[in-house]
Amino acid sequence: MSRFFSNKFYKLIPYIPGEQPKKTDYIKLNTNESPFLPSDSVKEAVAEESKRLMLYSDPECIDLREKLSKVLGVKPSEVVVTNGSDEILNFAFMAFCDENHPIVFPDITYGFYPVFANLHNIPYTEIPVKADFSIDINDYIGINKNIVIANPNAPTSLLLSISDIEKIVSSNPDNIVIIDEAYIDFGGESAIKLINRYKNLLVTGTFSKSRSLAGARLGFGVADKDLIADINTLRYSTNPYNVNRLTLKAGMAALQDNAYYMEKCKKIVDTREYTARQLENLGFEVLESFTNFLFVKSEKIDGETLYKELKRRKILVRHFSLERIKDYNRITIGTKEQMEVLIEKIKEIFKENNL
Ligand code: PMP
Repeated sequence: MSRFFSNKFYKLIPYIPGEQPKKTDYIKLNTNESPFLPSDSVKEAVAEESKRLMLYSDPECIDLREKLSKVLGVKPSEVVVTNGSDEILNFAFMAFCDENHPIVFPDITYGFYPVFANLHNIPYTEIPVKADFSIDINDYIGINKNIVIANPNAPTSLLLSISDIEKIVSSNPDNIVIIDEAYIDFGGESAIKLINRYKNLLVTGTFSKSRSLAGARLGFGVADKDLIADINTLRYSTNPYNVNRLTLKAGMAALQDNAYYMEKCKKIVDTREYTARQLENLGFEVLESFTNFLFVKSEKIDGETLYKELKRRKILVRHFSLERIKDYNRITIGTKEQMEVLIEKIKEIFKENNL
């Protein structure tokens, strides 16, 4: 740290992203990306738009917002697009939380939430999930604090029903409830349909997972237009060109190719169920997944050792050192072939170590 770094931040512990190895000889199952290529029209749209890179992007992102709002069944004024969904989450923490408006979230959830809270000096409480890692909605009913819940949750892969989400939102009318739906296309029912009934609900989403665009950085927020206007005040006060030209076009083309992506989602769900059964056959405990990853534990080998042994064999999975989940690994669903290699390598590890 330099002597110039502001005192405000000297205790800040940044978010640690999953490894992004330079070498491509890994089977990469550690950051919940899609194993499938973007569709051809995305590649073509990006190549075509590259001719216009000397010009700034549209700060209103109007074409993409119009298209996205149609797909989501809302109005363009109820949508904002951002540089990944991390950015809309950051804006939401900034816009709606402060010393007098604290936020709560589960203790086992997306690791960026406490980082955003610390970054903006927001008091926060982590509410323990139950022993089976499920969220007890009674902990959130009428809590009278801002709330952020990933649904489905990460890294647990578990889902809350839309009626449970509605109970949480309706019982906290004077607080913002953020539902982070990064993984919703792999299992759950979106809370977007509730935004017209609840002025305090913000739903966030991403093109990183189900639409094979993690590297393009495209996220979005959907809420009542007044909440979206607040987010835009912050967006225009930080970076009005937050979504670049190539990404705007990639997003448009991806929405156009909806059928392609929904077919890939189905493949991922089928491969997820196949992998879950294979891992169970090897004695793993596998949480029921509504996402593009599995959260798994084996009595035979601890989470960190399995992570290291797989890495030696050129497979990357995610291990968290947090006490409650240190025995687990989070494994992204790749192609069927990649998952077959994973299973083979786990068998090899068990055999070599007489497990
Ligand atoms: N929310 C959750 C629960 C996530 O796991 C992720 C991915 N790391 C994000 C949001 C952010 O994804 P992105 O910024 O790529 O949209």
